[in-house]
Amino acid sequence: MNDSPEFDSELHRTALAQLDRVATKLALDSDIHERLRFPRRALVVSVPIRMDRGDTEVFIGYRVHHNTALGPTKGGLRYDLGVNLGEVTALAMLMSWKCALMGLPYGGAKGGVRCNPRELSPRELEHLTRRYTTEIIHMIGPDLDIPAPDLGTDEQTMAWMMDTYSMTQGKSVPGVVTGKPIIVGGSAGRREATGRGIVFVLYQAAKSLGQELRGKKIVVQGFGNVGSVAARLLWNDGCTIAGISDVKGGVWNPGGIDIRQLQEHVAQAGTVAGFPGGEPVSNEQILEQPCDVLIPAAVDSVIHGRNADRIKASIIAEGANGPTTPEADAILRDRGVTVIPDILCNAGGVVVSYFEWVQGLQYYFWKESEIIARLQEIMARSFTSVWRTAQKSGVDLRTGALMEGISRVADAHVSRGLYP
Ligand code: NAD
Repeated sequence: MNDSPEFDSELHRTALAQLDRVATKLALDSDIHERLRFPRRALVVSVPIRMDRGDTEVFIGYRVHHNTALGPTKGGLRYDLGVNLGEVTALAMLMSWKCALMGLPYGGAKGGVRCNPRELSPRELEHLTRRYTTEIIHMIGPDLDIPAPDLGTDEQTMAWMMDTYSMTQGKSVPGVVTGKPIIVGGSAGRREATGRGIVFVLYQAAKSLGQELRGKKIVVQGFGNVGSVAARLLWNDGCTIAGISDVKGGVWNPGGIDIRQLQEHVAQAGTVAGFPGGEPVSNEQILEQPCDVLIPAAVDSVIHGRNADRIKASIIAEGANGPTTPEADAILRDRGVTVIPDILCNAGGVVVSYFEWVQGLQYYFWKESEIIARLQEIMARSFTSVWRTAQKSGVDLRTGALMEGISRVADAHVSRGLYP
């Protein structure tokens, strides 16, 4: 089996280890297994930006298409200091399994620019986005590859990408990105989709475990798009949100945090840290606090071999991509912790992105209630299917989800054959 050092990173090693393990379980054809270990194409670009202080800074960006057997590729764009080719390649691979698992007609992709978006002004961010989009322009398109928001990017980033792409085409092309503002072809319910999908999956998990979600004690790491929506919806539904953190630190209150007040604090202070309605807690400590459900919704590899045995939650709902290392997975499995894996748990975002893409191609937009109902149906159906696969094969939910996703991509390869 061939390994390529150019893609090496902790997350890529995790993604490959997951693929290799599941390929053995599925007795996957070795030629197809080998093919799936590599991205179809990967582009590295340099992105020079005139900074507000007058000098020019060069940022490094990536766009990776992992697999195109099921259709055009789909995957987020990430602005973060941790971005590198290995991380983006791993995330593109996870997107392939996620889209296949959810039954979407997409392959997996991912993009990123290594930068700290919190240190860039709105003008610098706009120039970075427009120049990055221009550098990867031949890799994207409504029937080629469709980016979406991820860590450090948002609706505004997608509006700039869509506008830049449209300018090169001489016409408006809303289908080139998803997660856009509604006014330029975005979908109702897309902003909340990933957090809402987590909640739907948690309801289904509680039902399968014979438990009640209402009243459970929840801890959320990350208070961005994913974490804040999941926390607010669970709070609305009568759960106790006992701990929340963001990059600057967290807050712990076993009696329950008032999410509306926390959102007001974050709107003013720009961070969860310093919220008066609880005790300060670090990002490492928050994972180990006593609770029923832990939702890591920030960055990857935060649950690892050194802290997995100290995690008190009995359910981990992976909002982030790749928050649990394989070493931690094994420890949690042995301890009987139910881990709802990223490719299932956070798939609400790509499901509603798919709805947005379909609506954009048809210029016909659905009501929010319709979107929420369809999302709920897909999330519940996917959870139930993964739960059954896991039970039938005697494996954990991650393995079950990967088995379903990977086998669908492999089937598409078998059916299409190898070109030429
Ligand atoms: P975001 O930028 O909106 O929010 C990220 C949050 O994490 C912020 O509160 C930030 O302060 C915090 N954070 C950043 N670095 C941290 C660190 N080192 N420790 C603790 N907290 C940290 O991003 P998002 O869109 O909410 O994405 C969060 C995670 O969810 C990522 O792993 C992303 O890949 C995954 N995800 C996002 C979507 C989506 O639709 N946005 C879909 C699927 C998965």
